[in-house]
Amino acid sequence: MLARPTERATWDGGKRVLLAAPRGYCAGVDRAVVAVEKALDLYGSPVYVRKEIVHNKHVVQTLQQRGAVFVDETDAVPEGAHLVFSAHGVSPAVREAAAARSLQTIDATCPLVTKVHKEAVRFASQDARILLIGHTGHEEVEGTAGEAPEHITVVDSPEVADTIEVEDTGNLVWLSQTTLSVDETMETVRRLRVRFPHLQDPPSDDICYATSNRQVAVKKIAPEAELVIVVGSANSSNSVRLAEVALDAGARAAHRVDNAGEVDDAWFEGVTTVGLTSGASVPEVLVQEVLALLADRGYGAVEEVTTAMEDLQFALPTDLRRDLKAAGASPTNAAGRRSLPVTPV
Ligand code: SF4
Repeated sequence: MLARPTERATWDGGKRVLLAAPRGYCAGVDRAVVAVEKALDLYGSPVYVRKEIVHNKHVVQTLQQRGAVFVDETDAVPEGAHLVFSAHGVSPAVREAAAARSLQTIDATCPLVTKVHKEAVRFASQDARILLIGHTGHEEVEGTAGEAPEHITVVDSPEVADTIEVEDTGNLVWLSQTTLSVDETMETVRRLRVRFPHLQDPPSDDICYATSNRQVAVKKIAPEAELVIVVGSANSSNSVRLAEVALDAGARAAHRVDNAGEVDDAWFEGVTTVGLTSGASVPEVLVQEVLALLADRGYGAVEEVTTAMEDLQFALPTDLRRDLKAAGASPTNAAGRRSLPVTPV
């Protein structure tokens, strides 16, 4: 049985856990996962999903057990079948390939990723050169870059900003992947601006609210924690960033784990305070399992440190809502589960 989170003032100096909030599922992940679940209920198995619907092993395995089939590309999907595009988004070329196979697509691209796609299209239509800050090879970056490949140059890191060759046309703008480290991205922009003083900012932040909020929360707990555990998969950009941000913010050590089974007892040597958080694609059950393990190791006192409250929810993809309505099922995100078992601030 886990201890209930307590007020910070009650700490007696003994072993404890500082539990970051917000953590776990964001609105875009919630929507994407519910979209696959509802598609399976409505159309029956198999429903195909291009790439991992969200970057979390547990989520992918659970949906596979329910009948979802994950594929790398559209040509692995039988003609006419249902195909869900993942939360990370796809390029126009992928949409065209799906249409050519007469696939019935459900677009679970996070609306905050779609916003970046639209910015890319708009700037490209103004003949701008776009510096897209993001990780080469990440699905989101491939999708956004695919909107205007002749106009977009990917900037992978602050170091790349020092050397990248682009024509400074005077119409140069930066955009970014939604799940980056806020601080590192600002450093990349700073270095780019040294070389390209005309560089324009995007009209609004591209790093999404969920990524920013989780980084703020982990920064709050990290200075007091000798060890920070981040629950999240290795290919989850925002989860990996959380471990890096924790170290930058003063944690003595930070480890990312997929689940409680990956926690190493050697990490607890000399540790009084453990910080715990999870990435935006991580179901709360995985955090609760780590809390149970920590309680078993003597870290039963849990203080939840809340730096923001989140209540954003996105409507399900349009085509799915239409079909749910036609079938008399609820077209809302009724199965939506917020990630936080939350204690009031
Ligand atoms: S992390 Fe941000 S951009 Fe990605 S799915 Fe969640 S809300 Fe959308």
